[in-house]
Parts: sequence; structure tokens; C-alpha cells
Amino acid sequence: MTDAAFDPSERSTIHRLPSRGAYDKKTVFDILDRGILAHVGFTGEHGPVVIPMGYARREDAVLLHGSAKSRLLGALAKGTDVCVTVTLLDGLVLARSTFHHSMNYRSVVVFGRSREIADAKEKNAALEHIVEHLVPGRGVDARGANDGELDATLVIEVPIQDASAKIRTGPPVDESRDLSIDIWAGVVPLEMKPGAPIADEHTASDKPVPDYVRDYSKGR
Ligand SMILES: Cc1cc2nc3c(=O)[nH]c(=O)nc-3n(C[C@H](O)[C@H](O)[C@H](O)COP(=O)(O)OP(=O)(O)OC[C@H]3O[C@@H](n4cnc5c(N)ncnc54)[C@H](O)[C@@H]3O)c2cc1C
Repeated sequence: MTDAAFDPSERSTIHRLPSRGAYDKKTVFDILDRGILAHVGFTGEHGPVVIPMGYARREDAVLLHGSAKSRLLGALAKGTDVCVTVTLLDGLVLARSTFHHSMNYRSVVVFGRSREIADAKEKNAALEHIVEHLVPGRGVDARGANDGELDATLVIEVPIQDASAKIRTGPPVDESRDLSIDIWAGVVPLEMKPGAPIADEHTASDKPVPDYVRDYSKGR
């Protein structure tokens, strides 16, 4: 691996439409840093399983966390090969033929071997990093984990061994013979947008909504 890119390996090389692929860290990290939901796949005791989870990237690693009682986290803490995917969905691409319908997206597939972060100080730092990734600014406001909460939480690091990004943008790519078909074709843009914040019943009615809540923009 160079400093600026992940070397395409046998398992991470994009064969289908390789022009849409990228291995440079700038592209891979940009997608990982914008996303908030990962799908984490590994081989469990009953075979392959893929589980949705929050995550954060820290340097060349993906951080995960969850209950110390979680079967998933327990398996990851033992150290296992995992594949983590993150997708930002940008649009539906409606071509003139059903065959050429597609989606616009930015996605990343990461491979690595999981390991537990057990040291309390490192664990706390990783959890703070995850909070800041998911809701930038929240870590300053919210109470941090106490010793009991730290004990009840498993924190997992997946150092990135291989990673690829794949990006599709733009209009449909129709066969030239189909361009005369008289139907609408184009892109339906999609984006994840926050709705208006809803204070809970314990928040004073005159408590202002923090800027980082009002201006939340992750997932795009
Ligand atoms: C948006 C999102 C974010 C999440 N973030 C986190 C996180 O950061 N940390 C965390 O620990 N958990 C997170 N979860 C919950 C996570 O998906 C698992 O449910 C949880 O980790 C328990 O996994 P487990 O394998 O230990 O559970 P188990 O109950 O042991 O799983 C047993 C079986 O239950 C089913 N199952 C488990 N989870 C789901 C699910 N989410 N949807 C449908 N079926 C399921 C599967 O068939 C699985 O094989 C998140 C879920 C979502 C949807």
C-alpha cells in the first residue's frame, strides 16, 4: 500500500466497469467519512452474515462498537476476516430500456481482520471518535461513557487491508437504437436529508437546537 492509495488486491480489484473504480485514499476516505451506516459481513458460526451498524473511520481503520453481550461483536472481538461496505445512494437512473436502468452511487468495500480495542483509554478515545463521526459536535455536549458503560461495550477496530471505491454518476447510457423511443428518461436524484429536529419531553421548550443538530448533513 502506498501512502496515498490502497493496492488493488485479488479480492479488491474491480473487474466490472473498472473505470468507475478508485483505490486512492482520498476517494475511499471521503465516502467513508460521509456515510454513517455500514454493512459488516463475516462468517459466523452458522455461515455468512451481514449486519447493519454505525461506524467511523479513523486513519486507515474502521471502528465499530456495540453491546458486550452482542453475538456479532463477540465474534469480531475474537478476530475474524470481515468485509465492511458503505453506500451513498445518489439517484435512480431511468433508461429507455429496462436493461440499462441503473443507480447513481458512491460506495466502498473494505476488507480487514477485526480486533478488539480493550485498553480503557483507547476504548474511550475510539468511542468518542465514533460519536464525533456520527454527529459532529455531539461529543462536546453529551456525557462520556462511565466505567460501567465502558465495560458493557465492545469496541472493534478493522485495520483496512484492502479497499476499493466505485462511483456511478450521470445520465442513463442507452443503446443508440433506443434513443428514438418516445419515453421520459433521466435521473431521479436521491439524498438522505435530516427532517426538523424533535426535542424529547425532558428538553426545556426554550432550549435552542444546537447548530450541529440543525445543520446536520452526514450521509450525503
Ligand atoms: C441503522 C442501524 C445501525 C446500527 N448500529 C449498530 C451499532 O453501531 N452497533 C451495534 O452493536 N448494533 C447496531 N445495530 C444493530 C445491529 O444491526 C444488530 O442488531 C446488533 O448488533 C445485534 O447483532 P447480533 O448479531 O449480536 O444480534 P443477534 O440477535 O444475535 O442476531 C441474530 C440474528 O438476528 C437477525 N438480526 C440481527 N440484527 C438485525 C437487524 N439489524 N435487522 C434484521 N435482523 C437482524 C439476524 O438474522 C441475525 O443473524 C444497528 C442497526 C441498524 C439498522
